[in-house]
Amino acid sequence: MTGKFIISLDFELMWGVRYHMTTQSYGDAVLGGREVIPEMLKLFSKYDVHATWATVGLLFARTRKEMLDYMPDVLPEFTNKSLSNYEVIQSGIGENEQEDPYHFGRSLLDLVADTPGQEIATHTYAHVYCLEDGQSKAAFRADIQSAKAIAETAGHTLKSIVFPRNQYGEEHVDVCVAEGISTFRGQPDVFAYRTMANRKVTRFVRGVRLLDSIMPVVPRKDPLEPEHGAGAIDVKASRFLRPWRTSWPGYSNLHLNRVRSEMRAAARQGRQFHLWWHPHNFGRNTRENLMQLEEILQEYTRLKSSHGMESVTMSEAAQHKGGAT
Ligand SMILES: [Zn+2]
Repeated sequence: MTGKFIISLDFELMWGVRYHMTTQSYGDAVLGGREVIPEMLKLFSKYDVHATWATVGLLFARTRKEMLDYMPDVLPEFTNKSLSNYEVIQSGIGENEQEDPYHFGRSLLDLVADTPGQEIATHTYAHVYCLEDGQSKAAFRADIQSAKAIAETAGHTLKSIVFPRNQYGEEHVDVCVAEGISTFRGQPDVFAYRTMANRKVTRFVRGVRLLDSIMPVVPRKDPLEPEHGAGAIDVKASRFLRPWRTSWPGYSNLHLNRVRSEMRAAARQGRQFHLWWHPHNFGRNTRENLMQLEEILQEYTRLKSSHGMESVTMSEAAQHKGGAT
């Protein structure tokens, strides 16, 4: 088997960060993230790279009315009310993308969809969390049904999902499989990366992840191929691509080197390497972030010619099981 290079992006604009940030504190990064999407797509085209765009369902809507029309009929009752995005649609956002580019993104979604090799996947309808107190299976199912319905209006059939905050359990995966979304981005089953509720992501866990982003701290081997189980296909995450830090370039250089060495190991051993981030991570220090991405894509190009490494979307990776093409 040749190694696979998989990229997935959590495309969410403000919906993914609303629970802890505002347009005042983070809006510039969200707008910067919008600006950077066409540049990312150009790089993907230049290096013939496929990527999966796990898109919040609300971003398929052209108007606020459309968001309300596809509202799920069962809603979660989060103990921490700020986790829910549904109420915000009622009041607190504009009417359309021109008025409110923080919460609407249909023009960008169409641009992604028109670029060869890009997969439109889901990040749930309203960036809903599976493992926070107050979520229910019925509410999660209703959310996924809304995501599917609104995606269909734009001509997309969803096959893959990235769970918000990477939170999921077996029951959530089962719901997705029943809804025809059988491919998901699972978390490595090792300390510090296992799927967990946010309160369990302690300072210590964050510290371990930070250190592991520049040197091998958590023993982990990328899989040879996606894991199949009970109808679901787990295309496991390998690494979160951290935003470039102009204030700490030494760290960013080490991180970039770490990503490249993991890519080389995957190519040599015929494993998959799954890199992920959010467009808004590139929204500040855009130039440096794009340069970092281009260096990664150049590494991929080298590995493609030396080891036959192949760039695939999540759903393409799922179809590659057993070496079939
Ligand atoms: Zn997210």
